[in-house]
Amino acid sequence: GDQRVDKTVDSVCPYCGVGCLIQYQVKDNTIVAVQGRDGPANAGRLCVKGRFGFDYVHHRQRLTKPLIRKPGVPKDGSIDARPGDWQAVFREASWDEALDLAAGGLKALRDAHGPQTLAGFGSAKGSNEEAYLFQKLVRTGFGSNNVDHCTRLCHASSVTALLEGVGSGAVSNPVNDVQHAGLILVIGSNPTANHPVAATWMKNAAARGTKIVLADPRRTELSRHAWRTLQFQPDTDVALLNALIHTVIDEGLTDPAFLRDRASNFAALKEGVAACSPEAMAAVCGVPAATLREVARAFATSKASMILWGMGVSQHVHGTDNARCLIALSAITGQIGKPGSGLHPLRGQNNVQGASDAGLIPMMFPNYQRVDNPQVHAWFEDFWGQPLSAQPGLTVVETLHKAAAPDNDPAKVRGMLVMGENPAMSDPDLNHARAGLASLQHLVVQDLFMTETAWLADVVLPASGWPEKAGTVTNTDRMLQMGRRALDAPGEAKQDLWILQQLAQRLGLAWHYPGPDSGVAAVYEEMRQALHGVIAGVPWARLDAAGSITYPCLSEADPGQPIVFTERFPTADGRVKLVPAAVTAGAEPPDADYPFALITGRQLEHWHTGSMTRRAEVLDALEPVPTASLHGSDLAALGLQPGELLTVESRRGRIQLQARRDDGTPPGTVFIPFAYAEAAANRLTHPALDPAAKIPGFKFCAVRLAPA
Ligand code: SF4
Repeated sequence: GDQRVDKTVDSVCPYCGVGCLIQYQVKDNTIVAVQGRDGPANAGRLCVKGRFGFDYVHHRQRLTKPLIRKPGVPKDGSIDARPGDWQAVFREASWDEALDLAAGGLKALRDAHGPQTLAGFGSAKGSNEEAYLFQKLVRTGFGSNNVDHCTRLCHASSVTALLEGVGSGAVSNPVNDVQHAGLILVIGSNPTANHPVAATWMKNAAARGTKIVLADPRRTELSRHAWRTLQFQPDTDVALLNALIHTVIDEGLTDPAFLRDRASNFAALKEGVAACSPEAMAAVCGVPAATLREVARAFATSKASMILWGMGVSQHVHGTDNARCLIALSAITGQIGKPGSGLHPLRGQNNVQGASDAGLIPMMFPNYQRVDNPQVHAWFEDFWGQPLSAQPGLTVVETLHKAAAPDNDPAKVRGMLVMGENPAMSDPDLNHARAGLASLQHLVVQDLFMTETAWLADVVLPASGWPEKAGTVTNTDRMLQMGRRALDAPGEAKQDLWILQQLAQRLGLAWHYPGPDSGVAAVYEEMRQALHGVIAGVPWARLDAAGSITYPCLSEADPGQPIVFTERFPTADGRVKLVPAAVTAGAEPPDADYPFALITGRQLEHWHTGSMTRRAEVLDALEPVPTASLHGSDLAALGLQPGELLTVESRRGRIQLQARRDDGTPPGTVFIPFAYAEAAANRLTHPALDPAAKIPGFKFCAVRLAPA
């Protein structure tokens, strides 16, 4: 075919938090190719998702008209969505009819049962402006703070520990600062699959002499570049990390000046790890004591040591404790606040950082300001001109528990708005979560496809894909980046900012943001004020011209600050707070009935619940079926050959998938990606939550396996 293009449009990759800059090549309102641009995070590099993951926007299953559930069709959470067969359940409607019904249903529930009866899930895939407007709609239109998003399921525990310890939930140093590190500790992360371009910077650093320590229950590809690989027992992060902290203290390798001037609570930390010698912890975590001591010494004494972590750290019922240990290790060795050092929780989705900054958090207004702080509360009531609730709202998993609550529970959640999120795939213990969604009296979903969540909705509003709108996103490095519109949305699909404003107007709010792309620049400027300073120096026009700017950026003369904490921490006393963590058991360790540990996660080719990548032709061709990765010895013991079907069952559900041999997955453990609706891994996972961050332990529950 004719590959000449009508235009090229600069934007940002819609997938992971690395934030690679891309250029779309567009012909006849169709993206025909994507190239990498020379962005600060990618320098022209792209992974397979960035390069081949765009054609989902042109997929034949795109929703192009508003849909309303047909009368009398029951919501059955036990039946999988059938995206190609929505006509059996829904009928098409005009925008006016659908919006009136969507907003009217929410308003009726609010008026009859009170604001706490309504909740909203936004998305870390949306722009900052969408996140900001969504949380504002829930707080001012619904009247509750029941607004959350998928960060709850990925880095809520990291953010909780970071806010407590260093006073800011964002990273201290950007990924490509690894080039200045003597050692990098990569823990609970498989960057080759999940942050592929970030992984290339790590490998480049290793080739120039930086030592990589890879700590993970699974031996993944990065291990080939690592100086040491610590393959520890699943769910024993605190034991491993306490042993490292113990060694640093025991062998006199702390940084005394840093501890004196910049840290607090060291005595409690020292006491907390006193019993955690490497010799004692080796039996718990499975790493030899000599290796633990060797790694602790190398971390403490390298010219600069940096810690990068992923969901293997955060998605545990003691995820907050895991992150506390990382903060402590970094601080007692003085390995923070300088180039090549610090703390970097690798953000999953392209806008996890920004969606959180913008306020998609139930206990915080934009920029992590607590809803129950009277001064903050008064400021936002004044700023938004509406009375606001001062009661922290429900988190994602709590919301679905409350949806399933008995009818006489005054806090029962009865109505929800979901924007671009798919909790019917991403929540733990899916059978329960879907029952909660199905029991809602009124569910409104705005999305591109008939997702598993939309399947349970009363009203489905066809939304726009990332190339069909403009907006800003914030990558894992705290870099604000500009996404631009390359396409017109298909059919009657609309931009999410337009949909939110239409709903708000029908809920009695006088919202109108003027300007192109549904007023995105005006929304950004309002958000910039609500964020109180951190992006004060980045008006829309500056970002539009520059494309990328790192915050904090306090004035228009400020070039942006990629490395923070160089002089003080943004805590009350300016010091990092050291918080000890105790070694505790997970919610559901393997036992005689369910002898395997299940680890869920992602793979290179597919993204989260698969709603986009499984509709991208090349990506789905590369990884077309759900798989369970097992050690060769376990496959042999089960009498299975790679490629044969097996059943995986937990106390909550069972799925069937293809066995894959992966000797990097340790014996007694099974790894399953959660992107496949036909074998949804979260039918198996456990709903227990980290007490501080309310994040579920997706990385650890007990299952049993059998040939299918
Ligand atoms: Fe996109 Fe992440 Fe791949 Fe870059 S590394 S191309 S941001 S998915």
